[in-house]
Order: sequence, then structure tokens, then C-alpha cells
Amino acid sequence: MVQRSLEGRTCGGCASPITREAGKRGPLPVYCGRACRWKAGNRRDAEQRARRRVGLVCETCGGTFNAGKWKRRFCSTRCCRRKADRADATSTG
Ligand SMILES: [Zn+2]
Ligand SMILES: [Zn+2]
Repeated sequence: MVQRSLEGRTCGGCASPITREAGKRGPLPVYCGRACRWKAGNRRDAEQRARRRVGLVCETCGGTFNAGKWKRRFCSTRCCRRKADRADATSTG
């Protein structure tokens, strides 16, 4: 099994020279292996997520917060409950 380095090609993840089996056809690989490709994909996802999670404002206290799984409208569970409490309190004025 002869492996040869692709001319001028380095891995997009770890920058080591990329090799592939001689005689193999198809598009040139961007990463040296599955691990590097997976890591690069994860990093891109994280960057996109980081960009998306700014600019949310809590409906209760007006503070800004980072969106998590459930934090869509409130900065914390306390603010979420406070909003619910206030809705109850309106009947007993
Ligand atoms: Zn690599
Ligand atoms: Zn809040």
C-alpha cells in the first residue's frame, strides 16, 4: 500500500500533509481524516451558534441574555416565574 502526499495539500484542521491511496480518484480531501473534518464542522457550528445567540431581551427585566434550549423569552427561570406570578396577581388588584 503506497501512500503519497498530495502536492501542496495540508489538512484544514491540523495542517499536516494530506495523503491518500495511490490510484484513488475523486475530489481531493480537505482534511487528513474523519477526526479533523468532524472537529472543523463542530467549530463552524459553534461559531454560528455564538453569532445567533446575541441580542435576546428578557420580557420581564429587559436584560439581554444568551439563548439556551429553553431561554427564549426570559433571562432566567426566576424571570419566567415572576411573569407568571404577575399574571395571577392582576385578579387581586
Ligand atoms: Zn488533520
Ligand atoms: Zn430577566
